[in-house]
Amino acid sequence: MKAKFPEMEADPNCVFCKIVRGEIPSRKVYEDTDVLAFHDVNPKAPVHFMLIPKRHVATLYDVGEDDASTLGKIMALAGRLAREQGADDGFRTIINTGRVGRQEVMHVHVHVLAGPDPLGPMVARSH
Ligand code: AMP
Repeated sequence: MKAKFPEMEADPNCVFCKIVRGEIPSRKVYEDTDVLAFHDVNPKAPVHFMLIPKRHVATLYDVGEDDASTLGKIMALAGRLAREQGADDGFRTIINTGRVGRQEVMHVHVHVLAGPDPLGPMVARSH
């Protein structure tokens, strides 16, 4: 059974949980009871923000059925928020997972990246 209030399920050492709690500043794009979106501090494209569940879930491996509605909400918001950030001609979503996915912050997040110019190839072959 998950907590009713997502902010009650947090990892005290997680950077994104600290952003959710307002202990680390962020440039907020969107917030509701379950979801927070904020600009990436080290943007890889002219538009680069992230959507996260407020509840601490480390990786996509850890996502369960209780998280499905929040993750669905994140997907439903991505296009709207991308447009609001000026990305009205396409964008890319990325979820990095674990070591192989080169996930740096262990709190599930959906990157939204956009031009205006087309982005580079999705991934460069690493071997
Ligand atoms: P990932 O490799 O998918 O885990 O990406 C983590 C992302 O979080 C990177 O793009 C970082 O630039 C970004 N990031 C780390 N700390 C912060 C922060 N305090 N505020 C905003 N973005 C951050």
